[in-house]
Amino acid sequence: MGVCFVPWIKKKKCVACKKCVKKCPTDAISMVKGKALIDDLKCINCGKCVRICPVKAILGDKDKMDVEIKANIKLLKKSLAKSKNKKDQRQIIGNQVLQLRMQRKVIKGTLKELENIKK
Ligand code: SF4
Ligand code: SF4
Repeated sequence: MGVCFVPWIKKKKCVACKKCVKKCPTDAISMVKGKALIDDLKCINCGKCVRICPVKAILGDKDKMDVEIKANIKLLKKSLAKSKNKKDQRQIIGNQVLQLRMQRKVIKGTLKELENIKK
């Protein structure tokens, strides 16, 4: 399970108009095999590509969060299906909860540090 906030492109939807490529302020988007591709390292998450895509092929934070939540739950259910008893299943869920809480603490701590750097 993970958290990632850079927009991403639904390749099947992309019609290669290149509007996102032209609009991106950091040249993070290129065309690869006729489809737009975002370089996560260059993206500053400004959201311009999400807004300009005429076919809504680029997913932003909100859409992405929904997709990631569903993916996490799907992954968890897969793990749960492997174990036979309720006790093991509760343990798996408990571990995931601990892991996610830890990630939340790391993110909160990092945000705090970033705010300090900004000052
Ligand atoms: S969010 Fe902004 S920086 Fe990132 S790929 Fe889209 S236009 Fe470029
Ligand atoms: S704006 Fe949308 S359709 Fe056009 S190239 Fe970018 S992702 Fe593809």
